Amino acid sequence: MPWLVAAHSCAMITHKDGDEGALANMSTSALLARRARLAARLPDVQGVLVGSLTEQTRRCGRADCRCARGEPHGPYAYFTPKPAGRGRARYVPAGLVAAVRARLARGEQVGAVVAEISAINAELLARRELR
Ligand SMILES: [Zn+2]
Repeated sequence: MPWLVAAHSCAMITHKDGDEGALANMSTSALLARRARLAARLPDVQGVLVGSLTEQTRRCGRADCRCARGEPHGPYAYFTPKPAGRGRARYVPAGLVAAVRARLARGEQVGAVVAEISAINAELLARRELR
């Protein structure tokens, strides 16, 4: 069955206190303060969803259907969890699409904050000041 895939990309919530490369130039106390600020900003992690939401339209294959004339059915939403291997794409009912989008955005936000905290800890480790 032919599937027409319309890729959807979720908006990444970016939040920069400063340049990532500047960590090496910050004092240890400044790094610790920044780490604490980041940790305090971690939103409700129970709402986290990591993966992607795609929308697909489809053709049913009936020669007399409107989809055969270029008006495909849908779009239908599908969620694919990450990391890959945690499951296949699953249909998301229209009434849940907004909730899924919000949780994906939350997941990206949490992931970005965790990555920044990890970068700070890596810098602290390099200084042998990991704590
Ligand atoms: Zn059809």
